[in-house]
Amino acid sequence: MIIMLEPDTASRAEIVRAVGEVAGHYRGVTAKTYDFAGSEHSFTEVHLLGPTSTIPVEAFEGLPGVMRVVRVSAKYRLIGRHDPRTATVGFSYNGVRFDERSVNVFAGLCAVDNPHNVDRMMGALAAQGLVTTRMGAYKPRTSPYDFQGLGKDCLPWVFELAGKHGVKVVAMEVTNTRHIDEVHAALAASGRATGVMLQVGTRNAQNFELLKAVGQQRELPVLFKRGMGISLEESLNACEYIASEGNPNIVFCLRGVKTHLGEPHRNLVDFAHVPVVRRQTRLPVCIDPSHSVGRLEATPEGISDIFHVTGQGILAGAAMVLIDFHPEPKTALCDGPQALSLDQLPKLISYVRRVRATFEAAAEELRT
Ligand code: PEP
Ligand code: MN
Repeated sequence: MIIMLEPDTASRAEIVRAVGEVAGHYRGVTAKTYDFAGSEHSFTEVHLLGPTSTIPVEAFEGLPGVMRVVRVSAKYRLIGRHDPRTATVGFSYNGVRFDERSVNVFAGLCAVDNPHNVDRMMGALAAQGLVTTRMGAYKPRTSPYDFQGLGKDCLPWVFELAGKHGVKVVAMEVTNTRHIDEVHAALAASGRATGVMLQVGTRNAQNFELLKAVGQQRELPVLFKRGMGISLEESLNACEYIASEGNPNIVFCLRGVKTHLGEPHRNLVDFAHVPVVRRQTRLPVCIDPSHSVGRLEATPEGISDIFHVTGQGILAGAAMVLIDFHPEPKTALCDGPQALSLDQLPKLISYVRRVRATFEAAAEELRT
C-alpha cells in the first residue's frame, strides 16, 4: 500500500509521523518513506510493507496532507507508475535533467581506445552543445581474445577530457562491483571534473549482486540495459532491485533482443516497448539504436537504419538516446561496424530535434 502525500507540503514530517502512527496499529506492518524530486514538484510517499491487504484505504485517506492511497501488488512497488496523474518521472544529476520533457543524446565511444580519439569525440560533442556522452572502459566481450577495454587506467584522462569539454555525464558500463569503487575513486581524484551514469549491460541484467551494488550507492544514477534474452517483466524487476536497495535514479534502456528473427540487424529492435515501459513505470526510457541495429546500411533516401529506429523510439516518447560514434570507425577496437562518424553528429542532433518536435505536436493534438 502506498500513501501519497500532497506535493511540496511544508508539513511533510508531521504527516509522515501521523501515517506511521496509524500504520503502527496494524501488526507486522512497517512504513518506509521515499522522497522524489520531480521537475516542478517534490513528492513524498510512505510505503507500507507486510500484511496490508486487510488495512482499509480509509484509514489513511482522511488524514490531512494525504492525497491518495494506492494498493499495489508487490511488483514494481518503487519504479511503478501507480498513478498516471501524479507520478514523478526522472531526476536531476550533475546539472542535467532526466525526465520525459526532453531528449538527452549520449553520443560517444563504445570503447575508449586512446586520449586522442576521446578528445576528438568530446570536442565534436562540445561543438554541438552536448554535455552527455558514452565511454566504455570495461567491455564485456563475447570472446576472451577480443579487446576488453582499458579499465581503470583510462578513467583519469577520460574524466579530465570530459571536464575540459564541459561534459557533465558519461555513461559507463561496470561489470563488477569493484568497478563501481574504481569509478567513484577516479571521479573524486579528478576533482569531480564530470559525472558518471553507471551502466548495467544486457549481459548483467540479472547479475543480482551487481544490481544491488549499483543500488546501494546513491551518488551515481544507473542506466539499466534490458536483458537481451529475458522478458520485459524480468528486466523491470531488475530495476526494482536497484531501487529497493536505495537508488531510485534509474534510466531504462531498450537495446534490442537476441533472436535470428531480427536479421540482418544485430538484434530484433524492441522500441515498440517504449510506450509499455513509460506506462508501467516512472523511469525515463532510453533507446540504444547502435546495439539494436548493429550496422550502418541506409534506405534509398540515404537515412541509415540507425537513424530510422532512433526516430521510432523518439516518436514513442523515449527521453534518451545512447549511440555509438567514432572519429575513425574502421579503426575502432569494439563495434566499429555500427559506429557513426563525427560528420554524422550534427545530422543526428537535427534529426532527433525534428522527430521530438513531431512527437510533442502529436501528443498535444491527441492528448486525452
Ligand atoms: C554497450 O552499450 O557498450 C553494450 C555492451 O551494450 P549492451 O550491454 O546493450 O550489449
Ligand atoms: Mn558495443
